[in-house]
Amino acid sequence: MTDLFTLLPKAELHLHLEGAILPATAMDLAARNGVTLAAGARVETLYRYDDLAGFLAVYGAIARAVVSQDDFRRITFEMLASCAASGARHVEFFISPHAHPDVPFATQFAGIRAGIAQARAAYGLTALFAPGINREQGPAAAEAYLDACLALRCPEMAGIGLDYNEAPYPPEPFAAVFARARAAGLQITAHAGEGGPAAYVAGSLDALGVMRIDHGYAVVNDPDLVARCRAAGVLFTCCPSTTRFTTIWRDLTAPDHPIRRMKDAGLRVTINSDDPPFFGTTLAEEYRIAHRDLGFSLADIRASILTGLAGSWLPQADKDRLAGEWAQEIDALLQDHADGL
Ligand SMILES: [Zn+2]
Repeated sequence: MTDLFTLLPKAELHLHLEGAILPATAMDLAARNGVTLAAGARVETLYRYDDLAGFLAVYGAIARAVVSQDDFRRITFEMLASCAASGARHVEFFISPHAHPDVPFATQFAGIRAGIAQARAAYGLTALFAPGINREQGPAAAEAYLDACLALRCPEMAGIGLDYNEAPYPPEPFAAVFARARAAGLQITAHAGEGGPAAYVAGSLDALGVMRIDHGYAVVNDPDLVARCRAAGVLFTCCPSTTRFTTIWRDLTAPDHPIRRMKDAGLRVTINSDDPPFFGTTLAEEYRIAHRDLGFSLADIRASILTGLAGSWLPQADKDRLAGEWAQEIDALLQDHADGL
């Protein structure tokens, strides 16, 4: 069983570059760049917090330790190497360039692209990224941020996201910036329903025009919205371990856990790892948790993987080809598993 969740081919759709920095790398970069992470910070206790605000404070401190183009290459490569070790074949990740206020976006993007190229050569995986808009900074800053990102447009920058502390920052003020991103040909997605209410999920669909919601758990509080999302085929990028730290749903085995309910309601639910070292997890482990704790049968796991591939931002022709290959590979692995291998 241990190997099955690693071996299954997977797409990772919800992962943050700065949230994937390994503790030892954070300590090393901080020492090298003369940045203090926290008083008396140690590798074992670096990633400790009680809620989303506490998490974002640690996240911000660690982001400031990443400075040079080669630092960005290193954290990108190390993150994608971890994904590959978990069986990821395609990765879509968020970046927070504004979290490194002293580093030009061009330096960051160049390092990130080098890290993607290095991982592609080493592991054969594909990767795309989406700058995440910091909703706490408001729509005017988001417009300037979009301009800065579009000025550095590259093939790996496939989309744009909306993240950081959700409540009390509803999606509606970002309607214009999302419209402009869409018009520029970027894919769009938004964090909603993690710390905010179901209305933020609905608002993201209505005002931003997204068909992909990152997290989305609060949708279970609004049955009409669940029905609407099911009918429209909205994709949810769920992250099981994250819910233990940043939401009110901290018991993954609870019958009312939202990811279980979203899956049972027939929503398009995918499994992802968000900020793996911060939450002590990996992509393969998140799939294990889905099966063991959240009631995902192996058929549900199979469906979730193929849903993730279908909902990814890869070109449609690539997705069509990979869907056939992955389905065959998954079926063979599940068959071996059924035979007790
Ligand atoms: Zn996230």
